[in-house]
Amino acid sequence: METTQQLIIGGGLAGLHTALRLEEAGKPYLLLEGRPRLGGRIATADADLTLDMGPTWFWPHQQRMQALLAELGLSWFEQYTRGDVLYETAPGQAPTRHPGAGQATSFRLTGGLTSLVQALHGGLPRKALRLDHEVTLIERGDDQWRVRAIHDGQDTHFTAQHLIAALPPRQLLKAMGRASWASDALRNELAAQQTWMSAQAKFVAVYERAFWREAGLAGDAFSRVGPMVEIHDASDESASKPALFGFIGVPANTRRSIKAGELEAACIAQLARLFGDQARQPQLAALTDWAAEPLTATSRDLEEMSAHAHFSADPLQQELAQLGLYLAGSEFAVGEPGYLEGALEASAQVLESLFANAA
Ligand SMILES: Cc1cc2nc3c(=O)[nH]c(=O)nc-3n(C[C@H](O)[C@H](O)[C@H](O)COP(=O)(O)OP(=O)(O)OC[C@H]3O[C@@H](n4cnc5c(N)ncnc54)[C@H](O)[C@@H]3O)c2cc1C
Repeated sequence: METTQQLIIGGGLAGLHTALRLEEAGKPYLLLEGRPRLGGRIATADADLTLDMGPTWFWPHQQRMQALLAELGLSWFEQYTRGDVLYETAPGQAPTRHPGAGQATSFRLTGGLTSLVQALHGGLPRKALRLDHEVTLIERGDDQWRVRAIHDGQDTHFTAQHLIAALPPRQLLKAMGRASWASDALRNELAAQQTWMSAQAKFVAVYERAFWREAGLAGDAFSRVGPMVEIHDASDESASKPALFGFIGVPANTRRSIKAGELEAACIAQLARLFGDQARQPQLAALTDWAAEPLTATSRDLEEMSAHAHFSADPLQQELAQLGLYLAGSEFAVGEPGYLEGALEASAQVLESLFANAA
């Protein structure tokens, strides 16, 4: 049994940012992460790669992201959009080409978003982190939280004064187990919030040359044929590792019955239809299906149309304050729920409350 003042559940952006600020403030905390890696929805295809298999972009209005990256000494660049855009409207029809000017500016992190995870991780002592600790029960005692997590097939136990839920609402509900301490209103509000993008799958292909750019194409394509519905340039800033990525349009529940390798092959065939024969031979290709990740997606997430969460905390404020339950995951944000920016927003809100209570 380990005891701490602040117990953070979840080692994605929200959990890591919360941990960093507690560390800087000299407050005691532990972070439990169910996966053997940190980052949550921020992930790469392979430890040596910089390819973003989860989030790709942040946007100019998202000031928390930009401030944090600047603070950590990380740099970013504009998404490549110069050139024409392709549209694939029906099977058997050649894609049509249109000028792509006027697209909204979006930013990408140099080195990929895992650089942010690494930078945050670098500011945290190893002794505060418990990877591969999936929380399976959260109980509320008279004056403390009791949390059970599974590690190496064994139950481990933690107690804490404050519980910081840095995970999606539906994952929190799952981790709570039978939780008699939560009101129906709280449980219902958690259950209603979709984990943004959790039903998505993303395909990335790396090439020797950015042949689409040489042909005056932006790398952007939209398709009603599939399997990818939306494709973009995923090259690094200097295009030393040219790449394209796309979101798969095949629904999550249908993807499950597709044989291994078939979807990847269909994505490469689509890239060749759109961008020409040079797309047939990627140096490397990777597909990440987030719907198959139980610490991200729940079965309900897979059945719904993609939507942003709108967690209504106001009617629950008193209950949350009495419990000492702090909601830091991105889906709990008010302004940018579901986004990277939302993870920082919700985390900042939690830290403000925690520090105000401690004052
Ligand atoms: C394909 C895809 C594309 C996206 N594109 C963008 C984009 O371009 N721009 C953007 O702003 N956002 C995008 N997002 C959303 C972005 O990834 C999230 O907003 C952000 O990563 C959320 O961070 P978080 O820490 O709140 O949650 P998460 O990253 O989900 O972290 C939660 C953590 O909790 C852990 N966890 C869950 N259950 C338990 C448990 N029981 N016990 C212990 N640990 C547990 C998980 O393993 C995870 O590490 C995208 C997401 C996906 C999947």
